[in-house]
Amino acid sequence: MALANILSEMPDLLERTLAEHTPDAQGFCRECRDATGVSAVWPCVTRELAEQARSMSGGAPAATAPAEGTVAGRRRARDLSAPAANGRHRSA
Ligand SMILES: [Zn+2]
Repeated sequence: MALANILSEMPDLLERTLAEHTPDAQGFCRECRDATGVSAVWPCVTRELAEQARSMSGGAPAATAPAEGTVAGRRRARDLSAPAANGRHRSA
């Protein structure tokens, strides 16, 4: 669904939608009320759309990326020191 695709690109709006469209004690959506006070049965269409958008965005892979970059950078620094030790052994 195109609208879910758009929502998945806007995490702020997605989180707000998920937070607002929650069921009340009677099982109706708190947010989806029309002018006469009638609520939509929960999960409402908007909620289902937001759930779909969240599954499309696939969690938060960006959060793990910096940690991996740090480990790789440290390993690269150790590799750079190794040839220097070899060179000293060869000349001695
Ligand atoms: Zn709703």
